[in-house]
Amino acid sequence: MKITAVDIIQLPSNPLITSTFCRIHTDEGIYGYGESGVALDHYSNASRELLKVFAELIIGMDPLENDVIFNKLYQMFWAQGNGLVIMSAISAIDVALWDIKGKYHNVPIYKLLGGKHRDKVRAYASQLQFGWRPETMTYSASTLPKLKESCLRALDDGYDAVKINFVSKNEAGENLRYENLKNYIQPDLMRLFVNRVKTARETLGPDVDIIVENHGLTSAGTTIQFARAIEEMNIMYLEEPTNPLNPHEYRRIADKTCIPLATGERIALRWAFLPLLENRSLSVVQPDLGICGGITEAMKIATLADAYGAKVQIHACNSPISIAASLQVEAALSNFIIHEVHVFNVMPEIVEQGVYDYQPENGYITVPDLPGLGNELSEKALSEATIITINQGRSGKSLI
Ligand code: MG
Repeated sequence: MKITAVDIIQLPSNPLITSTFCRIHTDEGIYGYGESGVALDHYSNASRELLKVFAELIIGMDPLENDVIFNKLYQMFWAQGNGLVIMSAISAIDVALWDIKGKYHNVPIYKLLGGKHRDKVRAYASQLQFGWRPETMTYSASTLPKLKESCLRALDDGYDAVKINFVSKNEAGENLRYENLKNYIQPDLMRLFVNRVKTARETLGPDVDIIVENHGLTSAGTTIQFARAIEEMNIMYLEEPTNPLNPHEYRRIADKTCIPLATGERIALRWAFLPLLENRSLSVVQPDLGICGGITEAMKIATLADAYGAKVQIHACNSPISIAASLQVEAALSNFIIHEVHVFNVMPEIVEQGVYDYQPENGYITVPDLPGLGNELSEKALSEATIITINQGRSGKSLI
């Protein structure tokens, strides 16, 4: 089988994200979808341009040779520096190749990854500070009554685990940044943050898991200050406590709190995860399949994590394509912990991008059994998309 053409598909920007995909075609009529993970802000356009370049380099190659194709693209000099936009384009191609591989063998991808450890994955409602359900994004759950309302909506939807950023906004709903969060958290702000965690715990009850999301906004010092203040509220894990490129600071935080630490959505490749695992500061790795290098690389990261006793939660906040890919990988991981249902993924404008909508029932999502990813872009999404087709290859030989 050979790759004959690659469609680069970009959906119109909506208030939430700008999604970019590749659809790889083959001479056997099978095609596969993959999605770039850098859908926030304007990174999506850069990823689209790189996809055009990489598409030329893979035309004529065997789509079943995903590791060979990964290495060809990864060895193209700059990718080895771990640039996330470069890796987002490689990731989109890799996931599309797995979709093709599954369809070629007429099995869901999890079968090709070693089989299904579970029929259903436990899910959590993610980013409740935006509210929950379609009224989100114009909603800020920055006050205690509004946060309570968000938690109650997630409970009503059957979740027994949630994730909330308690520190990104002040009580008026304005963004807090460096000066408030990285140097020292003032007593009035700290009181607000802790009261938010208390409100969530009281509303959700003792048996619902709470994941705390810091989005890398805090430094090690302020994270320790906050973590020590909320430890008694039984936190499942603390996500992006600080910049993931600083493993020493992760170790310092882990030394000072009993809350398990998680990170990974903003780093790519196994080597970026290794120092955080080697120094034993991470309990959960969170690779994004549209950023880390795709399914091929995510499986390597997951195996590495397993060697250090860490669990895996795939980071997922983009279209139904990346959600389907996440479900396939999560089904196949023995060290999977929980699946993310981001607030974007319950929004109608995102849901309708896919042919299928995989939402949880009573907090669990059934893993799709369709061949390949188990989802593709809907007719509506395609009719609104800008599509560029690349069908001429080139050798792309590097000087080095
Ligand atoms: Mg996050």
